[in-house]
Amino acid sequence: MIIKAPKGTKDILPSEINDWYRIENIAKEIFKKANIKEIRTPIFEDTSLFERGVGDTTDIVNKEMYTFIKSDRSLTLRPENTAGTVRAYLEHNLYRESQPVKLWYKGPMFRYERPQAGRQRQFHQIGVEMFGVQDASIDAECIMIAVELLNKLGLKDLTVEINSLGCNTCRKEYKEVLKKTIAPFLSGLCQDCQSRFEKNPLRILDCKNEECNKLFEENNLRNKLTTINLCDECGTHYEKLKKYLNELNIKYVENPFLVRGLDYYTKTVFEIKSNNLGSQNAVCGGGRYDGLVETLGGSHTPAVGWAMGMERLNSLLDKISGEKIKFYVVSDNQLEAVKLTQKLREQGFGCEFDYNSRKFAKQLEKAAKTAEYAIILGEEEIKNNFYTVKNLNNSEQKKLSFDEVLTL
Ligand SMILES: [Zn+2]
Ligand SMILES: [Zn+2]
Repeated sequence: MIIKAPKGTKDILPSEINDWYRIENIAKEIFKKANIKEIRTPIFEDTSLFERGVGDTTDIVNKEMYTFIKSDRSLTLRPENTAGTVRAYLEHNLYRESQPVKLWYKGPMFRYERPQAGRQRQFHQIGVEMFGVQDASIDAECIMIAVELLNKLGLKDLTVEINSLGCNTCRKEYKEVLKKTIAPFLSGLCQDCQSRFEKNPLRILDCKNEECNKLFEENNLRNKLTTINLCDECGTHYEKLKKYLNELNIKYVENPFLVRGLDYYTKTVFEIKSNNLGSQNAVCGGGRYDGLVETLGGSHTPAVGWAMGMERLNSLLDKISGEKIKFYVVSDNQLEAVKLTQKLREQGFGCEFDYNSRKFAKQLEKAAKTAEYAIILGEEEIKNNFYTVKNLNNSEQKKLSFDEVLTL
């Protein structure tokens, strides 16, 4: 019996790899223009990094982490990459370089969730983190970069949803209002919401449980909740962000119930949704996390970032068909065929040859699947030093010298 890949994981096959390169290549170009540098952090970290960094009231930390013990150390496969990036930023004193420090990453993340369409236990994210700027201009830049990437990938009808969660001061007041409004209905909410009520009531707004949503709707709870009363500083920051987005012609809608699933956000949070293929799923989520660097032992450092799920992005894009190489050498003389292959590759061309001297008809069949041109190298060609080249698109056949082959 063959062993299969674990539940919730997927192989990325050669026929799919160009879809992944497309996202990575377009993203790299955009990041380069914006002077954002790549960072690669370990796939596992000390468990405490996520407990402190992601927050111990989140589903991620409570239910979804892959944690294991090695030599008495508790380690965890990273469920996201912001905490690891902040850890690296502090460990290597990246803040001593000129501010801001702008970083991007891509790679696999791990969360133990029930696998369903578009949700895997090992999934891939590409993301950006920017440190050291308080001004809302960097929040705007962050959103601008995400929108540019999604546009260049061909995603249309983007909706940017924004909200401000304020700072600890303005949030404290809001939490009280929230608790007062929700308290009479508390017994009807799910177990998670009941434990969130004391520890992090804001997260109740984010609950995916159907019963909770029904209860919210039936009692019109969302409309009863006023939006967060932002303090002067947070209010000004939010107004500035909206002004920047207006001037940049980035269309947005304000969603006062956008809270995001993580504990560390302050002030700006945002999600970008795409209407491609009729789906209304968020393809990008992010926000400001001014307290996280301090939480992880650094000095107060404003920061903002986003992440995109690459599986979800790919599911919204057209598939790219496999690329063909330029030449395939058809010959019953393997020595001459491999020598010609070497010469053509040295000139920068993709080239393969038939290893088994099969019948020419069989070799041509393989050539048509693999390459743009077949170079037929029979006895006569070898003796008289020319090449019969067949264009595999239109079946046109020509006798060419080596230099002429190079001009194809
Ligand atoms: Zn505030
Ligand atoms: Zn709930």
